[in-house]
Amino acid sequence: MSNMDRRRFIGGLAAGTTAWAATGEQPFLQRITHNEQRSATTRRGSSTAPILQSELRAPAFRPLPLGSIRPRGWLARQLRIQADGLTGHLDEFWPDVGQSQWFGGEAEGWERAPYWLDGAIPLAWTLDDETLKTKVTGYVGEILDRQRPDGWYGPYPENASTTRYDLWAILLANKVMVQYHDATGDERVLRAVEASLRVLLEGVQRTPLYNWGQYRWYEGLIPAFYVYERTGEPWLLELARRLRQQGFDYAEFYCGEDVTLPTPRRGLWTWAKHVVNTAMMIKAEALAWRLEGRDEQRGEAARMLAILDRFHGQVNGMFTGDECLAGKNPVQGTELCAVVEFMYSLEVAMAVLGDPALGDRLERVAFNALPATFTPDMWAHQYDQQVNQVQCTHNPDHMWTTNGPESNLYGLEPNYGCCTANMHQGWPKFASHLWMKIPDEGIAAVAYAPSEARFESGGVPVTVSLDADYPFRENLEVTVAVDAEVSFPLLLRVPAWSETATVRVQGESEQRLEPESFHRLERRWSGKTHVSLRFPMRPRVTIRYNEAVSVERGPLVYSLDIEEDWTHINADVPGRELPHGDFEVRPASPWNCGLLLQDGDPADAIQFEEQPVGERPFSPDGAGMSASVPGRLLPAWGLAHGWAQEIRPGLHPSTDPIERLKLIPYGCTNIRVTEFPCVQEVS
Ligand SMILES: [Zn+2]
Repeated sequence: MSNMDRRRFIGGLAAGTTAWAATGEQPFLQRITHNEQRSATTRRGSSTAPILQSELRAPAFRPLPLGSIRPRGWLARQLRIQADGLTGHLDEFWPDVGQSQWFGGEAEGWERAPYWLDGAIPLAWTLDDETLKTKVTGYVGEILDRQRPDGWYGPYPENASTTRYDLWAILLANKVMVQYHDATGDERVLRAVEASLRVLLEGVQRTPLYNWGQYRWYEGLIPAFYVYERTGEPWLLELARRLRQQGFDYAEFYCGEDVTLPTPRRGLWTWAKHVVNTAMMIKAEALAWRLEGRDEQRGEAARMLAILDRFHGQVNGMFTGDECLAGKNPVQGTELCAVVEFMYSLEVAMAVLGDPALGDRLERVAFNALPATFTPDMWAHQYDQQVNQVQCTHNPDHMWTTNGPESNLYGLEPNYGCCTANMHQGWPKFASHLWMKIPDEGIAAVAYAPSEARFESGGVPVTVSLDADYPFRENLEVTVAVDAEVSFPLLLRVPAWSETATVRVQGESEQRLEPESFHRLERRWSGKTHVSLRFPMRPRVTIRYNEAVSVERGPLVYSLDIEEDWTHINADVPGRELPHGDFEVRPASPWNCGLLLQDGDPADAIQFEEQPVGERPFSPDGAGMSASVPGRLLPAWGLAHGWAQEIRPGLHPSTDPIERLKLIPYGCTNIRVTEFPCVQEVS
C-alpha cells in the first residue's frame, strides 16, 4: 500500500473509529488492579464476558463470539455442502483424526486432529448443527480427559523434557481450544488452555522453539492473548514475548533477496519460504504490534504482501508454493493449506489493523482460490491448485519443486495428508469473520457474503443482515434490526476496485462512497432499516506473467469453461471408495485458446451474463455469472510435462477462426485456463 493509499484508509477509518485504532497510537493503558483480576476470574467462564483493559494495544475490530454470525443464501448452502462432505465425516473413516492420539487412539498425535477441529468447531457453531456440535464436544472432552496434572496435553511425550519436542502442535491445539471456549463459554476449556500455556512457558525456557514451532511462533500469541484478556495474568505476556524472541524474524527475511527468488526444482526446501509458513506469518507483525506497539509493525503485512505479489503472486489472490515460494508462472501451483491459512491470517490482521485492503484480499482468496481447489461436493480436494490447470492427472513427469506426481489430483489425501486435515477452516472462519465489533458499540462489515450477525449495542439486541448474491452481483441489501432505539456506527467496507460505489439508506438520497475505505453510517436506529449498497463491477483485463492476460470483474477472476472428463482412480485402495475417492480430470473440449483484445479498453469486448447462482454455487453448472470474450484456438500451444506449456511473451499467431469463448468464475472451475496468451487479429 502506498503512503497515499495508507492515508486514505486511515482517513476512512478515522471517520469510523477512534483515532488510536487507525494510527497505532495507544490509549491510556490501565494496569489491572488486584480487585479487577479477581472479578475477572469470576466472570471468565463466559465467552461474552467483557474484555479486560490490558497492556496489549487494542485492535481496531474484534470478531464476534463464535456462533453470533449465521450464513444465509449461497453461503448457507456452501457450509451445508461442507458439513455433508469431508468435514462432517472425516473422523468416521480417516485414522489420523478418528483414532488420533489426541483422542486416546494410536494413530497420528501431532497436528492432524487439531487441524480438523480448527475447522469443524467454527463450522458446527456457524451452522448451528447439533450433530456436529455434539461430535466436536465429544472430541474436545477427550482432549481434556488426557491433559496431565502438569498441564501438558496427552500426546506430549513422557520423555520430552529430556529429548527435544517441536511445540508446534501445542501452539495449534491451544488456538483451536480457545475457539471452542469462544463458542461455548466452557470454563474447563479455558482452564485447560491456561494450564497448557503455563507449562509451555516452562517448556520454551528449557528448550527454545525450533523447526515448525520456531516458524509458527505467532500462532501461540492467539491463545495467549485470548486468555490474558480474560484473566489478566501477566505471565501470559511473558510467554508471548518469549515466543516472539525465539521465533523466526520474517520481517528481516523480507528485507533480503532470497525471498524474491523462486525455489529451484528439487532439494531446496526451506522453512522460511515454505508456503504454509508464509501464509501463516502474514499476521505475525500485526499480532506482535499488540505486544510491542512499534508503529512500523502496522505496515509489515502490506509490505510483505507486496513482495509476495511482485515475485510469486497469482491472480487468484495467492502466491505460489509447491511447497516453497515458486515464482509467478501460472502452472506452478499453491498448496491448499496455504489458502486456508492465508485467509485466517487476513482475518486476524484485519481485526488488528482495520485495513480495508485486507478485506479485498480476503474476498479474492475466498471467492477464487478456496472453492477452486475442491470438488463442488467438498468430498475431494487437491494438494496443489494451478491457475492454468488444464488437466489433473497422476503425472510422474511433473515439474513441482518438491511435491509428488499426485499433487493436483482431486482426492482424499493427494501427495500428503496435511491438507486433508487442515482444509476445513476456510469457509467457516470466513463466515465467522464477515462482521466484527468496533469501538463505540458498533459493527463493521469487513467482507461480504449473505449472512446475519447478532450482537448487543448499549444493551439493545441488534441483528444486521446481508442479502445478496455477491460476489456474482453488484447490489447488496443490508438490514439493521433493533429491539429498541439505539445509536451506533455501522462501518461498510468499500472495495478498492469499485470506483463508483454508492450507498442509500431507505427514504434518503444516494451517497457516493470512497473506494478502499470504511464508510461510517452513524445514526439512531429504530425498528428495521434497509441500507442498499451498490458496488459497480467494471470488467478489467490485467497483465500477468510473460504478458499473458486475465479477466477480472469485482472480486472474481474468470477462467475458460472447459468440458471435463472425470476418472475415479485408486478405487482398490482402502478409504478411496466413494464418496471420498481420488479423481483425475481431463479436458473434453479444447483449452488452448488465446484472447483477441482491442485497442482502447480491452475490457469493452467482454460481455457478462447473469445466471442463477446454483445449489452448488462453486461448480461449473452453478456459476452465477459467465463472460464471453473474442478469441481463437492456438494449435501451437500444447502440453509440456503434462501441464499447459509456458506462454511466451508477445502476440501469438493463429489462423483459426475468431470465436466467442465462454469464461466462468475461477472458483467454479475444476480445470481451467486463467492467464491467456494474446492473439493477433490479422493472421
Ligand atoms: Zn497441506
